[in-house]
Amino acid sequence: MSLENIIKSVNKIDNDSARALNKIKKMIAGGASSTMRVLPYHKPLVISKADGAYVWSVEGNKLLDFNMGYGPLLFGHRSELIDEAIKKELGIRGAVLGYATELYYDVASLIKDAFPSVELLRFSSSGTEVVQTAVRLARAFTGRKEIILFEGHYHGSSDSVYHKYSATVEELISQKKYRPIQGTQGMCGAPFNAYVLPWNDLELLESFLAENGKNIAAVLMEPVMGNSGVIPPGSDYLSGVRKLTEKYGIVLIFDEIITGFRIARGGAQERYGVYSDITTFSKAMTGGFPTSAIGGRKEIMELLSNGSVFHGGVYSGNPLSLAVTLATQKEYKSNGDRIYRHLEEISDIFANGLKNIFAEKRIPVLIQKVGAMLSLRFLKDKNDAEINNYRDSVLKTDPLRYIIFQHHLQDAGVYIHPNHIEPLYFATAHTKDIVGKALEIIKNVVNAIDFSATLTD
Ligand code: PMP
Repeated sequence: MSLENIIKSVNKIDNDSARALNKIKKMIAGGASSTMRVLPYHKPLVISKADGAYVWSVEGNKLLDFNMGYGPLLFGHRSELIDEAIKKELGIRGAVLGYATELYYDVASLIKDAFPSVELLRFSSSGTEVVQTAVRLARAFTGRKEIILFEGHYHGSSDSVYHKYSATVEELISQKKYRPIQGTQGMCGAPFNAYVLPWNDLELLESFLAENGKNIAAVLMEPVMGNSGVIPPGSDYLSGVRKLTEKYGIVLIFDEIITGFRIARGGAQERYGVYSDITTFSKAMTGGFPTSAIGGRKEIMELLSNGSVFHGGVYSGNPLSLAVTLATQKEYKSNGDRIYRHLEEISDIFANGLKNIFAEKRIPVLIQKVGAMLSLRFLKDKNDAEINNYRDSVLKTDPLRYIIFQHHLQDAGVYIHPNHIEPLYFATAHTKDIVGKALEIIKNVVNAIDFSATLTD
């Protein structure tokens, strides 16, 4: 089946979700407040209730959720811990205050405890804002203009970094001298003063820096690629990048918005033992409340203290977000061993279960996982054992099979994101029992689909 036919079949759906979505579209551009959330090939899904590992659609269908709010919900939906923290803080300082509170210190101390590379912090509301601030800081600190970004990595929608991270390989090849392709219309050609290099290739970075190193302010990356499917860093890649950035006096920024407090309490830095100069946080940092943070070396972050670099935000560090973050951070500190062991265990069970299900049916898939983030790729060729970079991910995978699988799975009551580049996210609410049930459903779905008929026509 072709993508065109899939879209036609989606447009024919006439259930409560489809009707609700059509109504929403009359008021909300595209029917969602993020371009990623409603695409033409997505099956309509409008949610009326969420709890633990589950969400309920407006037609009353219960779905086991492996999207977990795109990563933040490390405890699952409406966890008691977070609900209680919200209720308590609303009775003390309210949601928005505009004054300093001691919550600043308490939350920052716990983040620093998990991330030793962080000496001073600031809070913000979104990932986009903190990444933009990180880039400004690096440029101001080094007095250099250029930054290095990577193919397939996403760092929010600001004009300073939003390149076409889902470009085709032809588009990437046609781009001379690794200059970025603007991420969307309306950017007047931005991001400016940026390069976009293939990731996980230390030799290439080394030779690029030999030529351009003295002009580079920052190297910015997701230390585990998560926005184009999961790709772990090669064994010496992060440490090699760290050495090179030190050699050329470049600020290394790890965007740990997905990985921080998810793949370990101390994120990729704990897992791989490599430390950045600046780190950006959001998602699992709070366990499910809209807030973000930037932290890093004191001498860099001091540029915010003395006002040389501007960072603001009416809602930055609001008491409600910080009270939730404090409760979450205390839980990670006290029970982190148990939490991350559980996440590792259930995601391993899930990954192995998936592998077996597809192997039995001789359907070539690749499952890549780092801690509680996993991606499932349908492969064009059964011999492709590994995907290490964005270009391979595009060239070797078959997104159409994934979409067809996702549609069947959604009907059967398990939700994984319909874009194959979005990882599956695990939460403590995913018990072993629940994961077992998910695998049973997946097995039935895989057995029911005639994959040979799903090849691109
Ligand atoms: N960086 C990374 C690695 C992300 O995954 C995201 C969001 N998916 C962002 C930055 C942007 O965060 P926000 O959507 O909160 O602006």
